[in-house]
Amino acid sequence: MSISFREEIRNLKAYEPGKPIEDVKKEYGLQQVIKLASNENPLGCSPKVREAIVNAVNELGIYPDGNCTELKEALASIHQINVNEVLPSSGSDEMIDTIAKAYINKDDEIIMADITFPRYIQTTEMMGGTPVIVPLKEFTFDLDGILSKITDKTKIIWICNPNNPTGTMITEKEFVDFLDKIPSNVLVISDEAYREYVTRDDYPHNTVKLLKDYPNLLVMRTFSKAYGLAGIRVAYTIGHKDIIETINKVRGPFNVNTLAQVAAIKALEDKEFLEKSYNLNLEGKNYLYSEFDKLGFYYPPSETNHIFVNVGKNGQEVFIEMQKRGVIIRPMGGDFIRVSIGTMDENRLFIEKLKEVI
Ligand code: PMP
Repeated sequence: MSISFREEIRNLKAYEPGKPIEDVKKEYGLQQVIKLASNENPLGCSPKVREAIVNAVNELGIYPDGNCTELKEALASIHQINVNEVLPSSGSDEMIDTIAKAYINKDDEIIMADITFPRYIQTTEMMGGTPVIVPLKEFTFDLDGILSKITDKTKIIWICNPNNPTGTMITEKEFVDFLDKIPSNVLVISDEAYREYVTRDDYPHNTVKLLKDYPNLLVMRTFSKAYGLAGIRVAYTIGHKDIIETINKVRGPFNVNTLAQVAAIKALEDKEFLEKSYNLNLEGKNYLYSEFDKLGFYYPPSETNHIFVNVGKNGQEVFIEMQKRGVIIRPMGGDFIRVSIGTMDENRLFIEKLKEVI
């Protein structure tokens, strides 16, 4: 092909999310396959949200509200901020892309952990930025290590809290002490995709209130996890109005679809559903912990809906063998796998098959 492309993307690899259920069914001739690989909510979404989506289907002939007016108002009211301090997006994936497009110049340094959510590095490379990778310390963020990497070229620091895939978290005190040491021209992004699952009180449960002291902070949240809306694609980011205005210039005109907007507004109202999701996750987590303990597996304690666990056998091999048995998990390098916490039936099936494989 003779059409030239941007040099920055020469070595970029296409993003490969886990294998879809249908592919695995076909490949192994299986009737029943469960996926515990993408950290979704096994309950799906709230029934109230489902009803709102069905009712909104009549509106699909016209474009979505390109300004997400009602959703922004709902978020502004919940977080006690102004509407110009929040920006919804089509999942946080889209927001990560848009932030990269708006802020990353060639050769800017973008600091992130190894290991963390892979879109941070992909979008950095896409824009010709330089990823600066800081290894985790005991499976959690090495904040001193990150501070030591800040240079004149640093543009963004990605903090995934709690972290995907390790499930570990940094405390409010650690985070605030860290923010105090960050130069004001460096953007710190707190990706809080799993915040609703956190059990610990010392987690920074309200990072939005930190924005008045740290205008270089962005807080990113999603409806894809505890709210059970991964398939509809909706998330939001809160920050200083100037940063939000900049990102707003770069986003697509109708980036959040009509059903997503309706679903998100309704989801915010259903606290009961969130509680149910949290409780089911906790039950599943405790069950998996006890089974892993019996098997002598190491796992860092998780504050999310997934567990990063050393199964004492090559993760890639375990992944393939589990797939043959109808369970999709995620290999994580070495003997580690990441498993999403499912329904109790799914969790039991996962353990049953895992015992066959290891
Ligand atoms: N951030 C983190 C840490 C994630 O784990 C994920 C999804 N796996 C995302 C962002 C993207 O989520 P979404 O685009 O569905 O909001």
